[in-house]
Amino acid sequence: MDPIAELGLCFGIAVLLILLLQRFIREILRLWEQQNVNEVAPRILLPISTCPVCDGRLESHLMTRHLIVTHDMEVEKAAELVEVMRSEKAQSEE
Ligand SMILES: [Zn+2]
Repeated sequence: MDPIAELGLCFGIAVLLILLLQRFIREILRLWEQQNVNEVAPRILLPISTCPVCDGRLESHLMTRHLIVTHDMEVEKAAELVEVMRSEKAQSEE
């Protein structure tokens, strides 16, 4: 096998492994998030927000991670969106 093809193959395998690992981590985070929601749901002390993407209800402090993990949103975009939601909520409470 010529070295360039071999290098390409190695690269391909590496990329595939990274993608698999990412998927795996996302899945774990998702399960962890669901578990957290289930655990904290009975105490309604924490503010609940509605996800703008899927209309799911979850705690405000979990929203950023939910957007990133569940909706593949970029970290900065998710943080921005949560910030906007927060300020809108604060305004409506005034
Ligand atoms: Zn959502």
